[in-house]
Amino acid sequence: MSDLISTFQNMKAAHATARATLSVTTAKQRTAQLTALETALLAHEDRLIAAMNTDFSHRSVQECRTFDITTSLSEIRSNRKQLKSWMRARRVRTPLQFRPATCEIRPQPLGVVGIIAPWNFPVYLAVAPVAAALAAGNRVMIKPSELSPRTSEALANMMYATFAPDVVSVITGGADVAATFSALPFDHLLFTGSTAIGRIVAQAAAQNLTPVTLELGGKSPAILMPSADLDRAARRIAWGKAASAGQICVAPDYVLVPRSLMQAAADAILGAWAKFYPDGSKGDDYSAIISERHLERLHTLLNEAKGRGAQSLSNEPDGPIAGTRKFAPVVLLDPPLDTTLMREEIFGPILPLIPYDTPQEALDFVGARDHPLALYVFANDRDEQELWLNGSISGGVTINDTMIHVSVDTLPFGGVGASGMGAYHGRHGFETFSHMKSVVRQAKWNGMFVTEPPFKGWKART
Ligand code: NAD
Repeated sequence: MSDLISTFQNMKAAHATARATLSVTTAKQRTAQLTALETALLAHEDRLIAAMNTDFSHRSVQECRTFDITTSLSEIRSNRKQLKSWMRARRVRTPLQFRPATCEIRPQPLGVVGIIAPWNFPVYLAVAPVAAALAAGNRVMIKPSELSPRTSEALANMMYATFAPDVVSVITGGADVAATFSALPFDHLLFTGSTAIGRIVAQAAAQNLTPVTLELGGKSPAILMPSADLDRAARRIAWGKAASAGQICVAPDYVLVPRSLMQAAADAILGAWAKFYPDGSKGDDYSAIISERHLERLHTLLNEAKGRGAQSLSNEPDGPIAGTRKFAPVVLLDPPLDTTLMREEIFGPILPLIPYDTPQEALDFVGARDHPLALYVFANDRDEQELWLNGSISGGVTINDTMIHVSVDTLPFGGVGASGMGAYHGRHGFETFSHMKSVVRQAKWNGMFVTEPPFKGWKART
């Protein structure tokens, strides 16, 4: 298999072949491709999970299954179930002056789609866009992350065992390979990763006028409002922050808490973690950090905030756990806002609680920062919910829970501003990877050729 991958070291040739052999596929062919992808995923599931477990040094099997396999399968299945209706030409109203011509919008494949994936959901964030791109009739080239090399290789093996390399190819390698990859003249490029690299990818794509979808990161806030059910909110925030050890783009990054509830909120979150992980972070259900470098970064963030006076609260000694790449989940009370941890996306199990005095102050806090990818409002009062729905801008919102909006395939998933541009999932993915072609069908007997000269004696109507 590595032979095949190395054959495709010549990315330009791989891209040119995919482009040259492109033909518009029927609904039946696309359905067969999605079924092949589903079958492959089920057949390779154990290998993919083992690879993820090795790449992370430990990743909870349940999280691998839920976040990478189940999510991928549901995206494949929802595309397969609905692609026939999505492919259908849609009749639209014809303005009176052009009747009896008829008008329609006909979805067309774009061509060859590039997908650059990160390491945090190394299967799902490659497979879900592949499903959408195939449903829309495209060829696909994937560049998975070099930080999850075993999963990338397992994914490449799965794809090459399932598809001809001009239909789906997988290009493995580091940042240099990724940079060359993003400079290929794709017909669309979907990048999932950090905002910093997203900027570089957008610039490379612009040279080819390649349209991009950027699925980026940032700091997604959770807001505890006065009407919230504190224990329930704490439990869902604790889950969202500790799942995959906080290495999730839509994990709650920090929590805004009414000043009087700071200690109660911290206690409730720690209580939830104690219930979730009765064996502490050493237990199998708690995942590890992707690399020593990332572990060290989190340790530095924590130490800086503690050194600046923030109180840390944890159910076990905070920081990295000796002999592992695990990092115990920790609550930080009121860290200074100029610490690195409050300026950068944390992407790990450190949860700052920031006090506020009035709801307007909380709104202003979020409004003064980059538009987040996700925003979580905990409030039972409808007015408090509406305050955030109308008064803040974010990629998505979940009320009284965290992260679940991502798995709803009828909702577009994507960021806004610094957290990304464009969206996919379900029909939104199909449309992202399609060109919506405008078609006018002139009638045989329409005599109103209003634009033809000679114009002598023709009076403009205003
Ligand atoms: P990253 O930006 O470091 O890397 C992502 C991908 O970009 C990798 O495949 C990498 O090889 C590639 N890359 C590196 N340098 C490149 C270059 N110069 N040109 C082109 N590609 C290059 O991100 P990461 O550390 O893998 O993932 C974590 C980040 O991703 C976080 O910020 C997280 O919020 C974000 N993320 C966003 C989503 C989303 O759906 N919005 C999902 C998961 C992760």
